Amino acid sequence: MKLNERGLLVVLSGPSGVGKGTVRRALFRMPNHDLVYSVSMTTRPPRENEVDGVDYYFVDKPTFLQRIRENKFLEWAEFVGHYYGTPRDKIDEQLDKGKEVVLEIEVEGALQVRRQMKDAVFIFLVPPGKEALHQRLLNRGTDSQATIEKRMKKAEGEFMLAHKYDYIVVNDEVNNAADRSMAIIRAEHARTERTIHNYLKMIGE
Ligand code: 5GP
Repeated sequence: MKLNERGLLVVLSGPSGVGKGTVRRALFRMPNHDLVYSVSMTTRPPRENEVDGVDYYFVDKPTFLQRIRENKFLEWAEFVGHYYGTPRDKIDEQLDKGKEVVLEIEVEGALQVRRQMKDAVFIFLVPPGKEALHQRLLNRGTDSQATIEKRMKKAEGEFMLAHKYDYIVVNDEVNNAADRSMAIIRAEHARTERTIHNYLKMIGE
């Protein structure tokens, strides 16, 4: 029995290349959860194997800019030459249904959400060292050398923003990081300020 019927907004963020996507996918493979993924919109061209509407909604720049003007994004950011944003619609609807809505976004966008959604939970995913991050960007094999250098440079600044988050999770091993993140989500769900109202109703107070 869940004492808190409303879902949580979970922001999974951290430096580029830390493995946010991999950890997020491992989280979703875990049993017994009510997580839904908020599919972002981007102007970045699809990578091989990426599916429109599943990994991202891939759009052109004029379409993205139009959506910004229409206030259709909860947050958006320009990241290494491309735009990325979280569509605002459906988030509240999913939270009302009791779903934990997971955003997997870079740090600038996460800080925008922090300012707007006081009740959201912010997890900062970090690599077990800077060299590990560089190695991961190289191993991914999807980005050019120039892009990797840009992403590394950006990550240097992003590392310093950890204190703005509620939790820091080290991605030393994907399943461990997913386990730790799930433990945080479950604990946050049961937090007294989110459950006391229904608890008092339950005991007839
Ligand atoms: P990638 O191009 O590697 O898929 O994503 C680049 C960065 O953009 C990653 O750090 C990813 O988490 C982030 N990102 C993906 N979707 C969004 C979004 O909707 N908003 C923001 N602010 N960042 C996003």
